[in-house]
Amino acid sequence: MGQQISRRLFLKGGLATAAGLAASGIPGAAAAAKPDEGKQLATLLDIRKCIGCEACVEACSEVNFEKYPDPQKPFPKMYPNRVPVEDWSEKKDVNDRLTPYNWLFIQHAEVEINGEETELTIPRRCMHCVNPPCVKLCPWGAAKQLENGISRIDSDICLGGSKCRKVCPWHIPQRQTGTGLYLDLMPSMAGNGVMYKCDRCYNRIADGEVPACIEACPEDVQTIGPRDEIIKKAHALADEIDGYIYGENENGGTNTLYVSPVPFEELNKAIEKGKGKPHLKPVEDTMAQANNLAAAMFVAPIAGIAAAVGKFYKRTK
Ligand code: SF4
Ligand code: SF4
Ligand code: SF4
Repeated sequence: MGQQISRRLFLKGGLATAAGLAASGIPGAAAAAKPDEGKQLATLLDIRKCIGCEACVEACSEVNFEKYPDPQKPFPKMYPNRVPVEDWSEKKDVNDRLTPYNWLFIQHAEVEINGEETELTIPRRCMHCVNPPCVKLCPWGAAKQLENGISRIDSDICLGGSKCRKVCPWHIPQRQTGTGLYLDLMPSMAGNGVMYKCDRCYNRIADGEVPACIEACPEDVQTIGPRDEIIKKAHALADEIDGYIYGENENGGTNTLYVSPVPFEELNKAIEKGKGKPHLKPVEDTMAQANNLAAAMFVAPIAGIAAAVGKFYKRTK
């Protein structure tokens, strides 16, 4: 009964919201434009310092525990059977890749430095792109970018369609089936869950704290600050160690910058890559591509309406 009432209210409220938004006009072109980098916070990771202790990984799961999914089972059957079930709820301990229950993991690379075999360990999570395609191309408006550059997926609005993962050059977001809005809205037709990824501890940052992974690190691998300062620091460090930078220009620039003593081409060859294990290849600016720009302009008004409808639905539950 409650669900029926919610649905009726949803349709009524949703249509009213849609009509209101359509009348006011949504600036699709503005949504497709590049955000103001000056206000964005970035992190610098000095790969030489990381000892692979995984204190950051543990801290991430401790502070974000309440944000993790609690799926309902059995999962509703999908029609057509096009969206595969992705269930990590029985594998919550997996920490050697990204999952809905693990937003940060450590990659290992055996490389040669000054003629010596050396193991480098690299913390990997969302890169927090300056102009994130996951946000600009989410058709449901569930992925958002905050003014400080953090991109996050609202688990109350996401339908799990995984467009964000498809358009992300590193395929970062991970889906959990059996949770979220689709269960009430369209349990057999919609995206089949919710997408999860690092939200750079946006709530801690709002409270004036640093992200948990930064605080927990015994080696001070990460530094956080305004993007322009972090870029200067990255260049100073790269000059000092005769090293290399990743993230300054990848995908048009990211708010996660790595400095490495060996070229990223070498690191990329040495790391294990695959599902939930992102690469370290060069990445062109995907949002500068005409088809994505056009798609962002097209998606923005729909996403604005869908997000407003999603919020209305959430309130009525
Ligand atoms: S790395 Fe992927 S998930 Fe993270 S902000 Fe960029 S596009 Fe989005
Ligand atoms: S910033 Fe927060 S959510 Fe992201 S990896 Fe670090 S601890 Fe996890
Ligand atoms: S806590 Fe620091 S040193 Fe340990 S794995 Fe994480 S980044 Fe590396």
